[in-house]
Amino acid sequence: MQLPDFGGSGQAKLKASTALVSGVGGLGGTVALYLAVAGIGKLILVRGGDLRLDDMNRQILMTHDWVGQPRVLKAKETLSQINPDVEIEAIPEFITSDNVDGLVKRSDLALSCAHNFDERDLLNAACVLWDKPMIEAAMSGMEAYLSTIIPRQTPCLSCIFPEKPNWDRWGFGVLGAVSGTLACLTALEAVKLITGLGETLKGQLLTMDLGSAKFNKLRAYHDPNCQICGQGKSNHVTKASELLYPSLERLAS
Ligand SMILES: [Zn+2]
Repeated sequence: MQLPDFGGSGQAKLKASTALVSGVGGLGGTVALYLAVAGIGKLILVRGGDLRLDDMNRQILMTHDWVGQPRVLKAKETLSQINPDVEIEAIPEFITSDNVDGLVKRSDLALSCAHNFDERDLLNAACVLWDKPMIEAAMSGMEAYLSTIIPRQTPCLSCIFPEKPNWDRWGFGVLGAVSGTLACLTALEAVKLITGLGETLKGQLLTMDLGSAKFNKLRAYHDPNCQICGQGKSNHVTKASELLYPSLERLAS
């Protein structure tokens, strides 16, 4: 609270906020840690799957004896031990077209840290639909990307990456210090967005080549014809998946 431009009001804003963290691995788990110690009011952690031994080089909320068990439950346990004042909801599921809208509506902002673009695209569409900011953090090997998306003010994820990188589900190695570096910047971005401290990466894409310590800021293109955030969107859309897969949803209904 001694930090200029943060103070008691910044702390109170954090306490009053709910952050949805999609993906609770080396990236999302570390984001959750720094939001918890900063005093966020509530965390909603969403991640299916069990802890694997090869997660342990980067997943700092986990312990060796938990291998084989649902990792999001351990994340809740560890975070609660570190800061018992944070309310934590742990959901051992992946982001799907059925759960994403409810999760986003209950949150003030979302942190996009999943390991695949299917979940990221759904989260992006839901954040645009329900008008919630989303911080997009991604990495591949030694490269990392970070941007803050404010629906209709800034390009959305679909504007920034109209074609998805060729990202294999478990396809690249990650050093814990690389995911941790990106995670700290991501958590900082969330704290800044919530409290008004400093300047966020709204509408900008921070690219990091951590192999050679090169950082760049690019201005992302806001596509007026974007399928997700572009003008002319139907007012009858009630689900993120209708924005993302309009023809599929029509077939289903
Ligand atoms: Zn867009």
